[in-house]
Amino acid sequence: MYGRAKLSELTQRSENMMPRPCCHRAALSLDAGFCDECGTPLLRCAAYEECGGLVDEGGVCPVCVAPRLELTAQREAQVGGSMALPLLLENRARVGRPLFVRGAWTREGGNDWQPMELSFDRLDAGAGVPFTVRTEPLQRSGTHAVEIALALATRWRWREEVFAFATGVEIAVEAGGEVSVTQNITYDASAAQTGATIYAPLRLDARKREQTSPRGGTELLLARADRLERTLGLRGSQGTVIQREARLSWRGFARGHAPAEGPITTSDGSLVLGRSRTKMLGGSGDVRLLVQGADGELDEDASRSISRRHFSLSITGGRLLLHIESDLGAWIDGRHEPGGSIVELRDGSRFSPLPRSQAPLSLEVSWAAQYGSVEAIQLTRVPREGTSR
Ligand SMILES: [Zn+2]
Ligand SMILES: [Zn+2]
Repeated sequence: MYGRAKLSELTQRSENMMPRPCCHRAALSLDAGFCDECGTPLLRCAAYEECGGLVDEGGVCPVCVAPRLELTAQREAQVGGSMALPLLLENRARVGRPLFVRGAWTREGGNDWQPMELSFDRLDAGAGVPFTVRTEPLQRSGTHAVEIALALATRWRWREEVFAFATGVEIAVEAGGEVSVTQNITYDASAAQTGATIYAPLRLDARKREQTSPRGGTELLLARADRLERTLGLRGSQGTVIQREARLSWRGFARGHAPAEGPITTSDGSLVLGRSRTKMLGGSGDVRLLVQGADGELDEDASRSISRRHFSLSITGGRLLLHIESDLGAWIDGRHEPGGSIVELRDGSRFSPLPRSQAPLSLEVSWAAQYGSVEAIQLTRVPREGTSR
């Protein structure tokens, strides 16, 4: 469960998860869904029009979410007393996108995470805010492990993505009362794997300055902590997280009325559902919702009660969210929700744009989660289009 790795290996591993240059080039064509060079689906950040970012394998847009944590100076610790770790949290986003701090925790010696009060909840791009973590009393022998976790959010309109990042240090009291601080990192590779702690052999020693920044501080590598996100309920719901790259398959639609099976690859990572013609057929929508009569022919009157943009559907914060854009509202799981609502869809959810009876047109959602992770979602039109009822 525990492994040792060099800091460079750890960094390399996270670079492998980053979107490739060929995909960035391909994504500039907003109607492209896949990279024409490597075939990877183009998972654009919700804020793509501002940041031009693609999300990595963990769903993070590295342009919007670029936090940096630094231990700003080495402090003398009194053995038997506690140690103050002076830290600086910076937002290194290359575009002017703020980060919102949704929580901070510390954990010492493998105990439970304890919430920590921070004096700030927003960090503008380019800004840095200092804060201090105070340890429990240090003992003369052995090492003292301190972990720090931060929940950081990025927002685009109503869509918010929260991610947890963690870092850790080991404080050792050496002979003569000298205190050394060594970085270690809790690195949760993916939801499906068991999280492993990787010790980065970075030694923060008051006498050695080679790894320090011009200010005299040392960067503490922040690793994505997706197990912690589950524990704290920061992403997904009820322990189930829908992956940003989940494949959607549309069943029961006539040809050209729904996208081919695959992840959401539109210019803002959401799909438009409504009466509009689909992009495939020269319109602006992604999924066309029309009502058919009992004879299988188009029921124009009933179809007019559906807005051209009735819904937008996205995977946001590890959830499948339906935004009701139509002023007419919609029926979801037997309740009528007003226009402007944002509703989380679950396995077994059913929704309809029709004002009264849902029978002529509704969509059913289903998925099977594996180890709390959803990688495929079925959306089934009921009744099936193109057949008479
Ligand atoms: Zn590519
Ligand atoms: Zn972004």
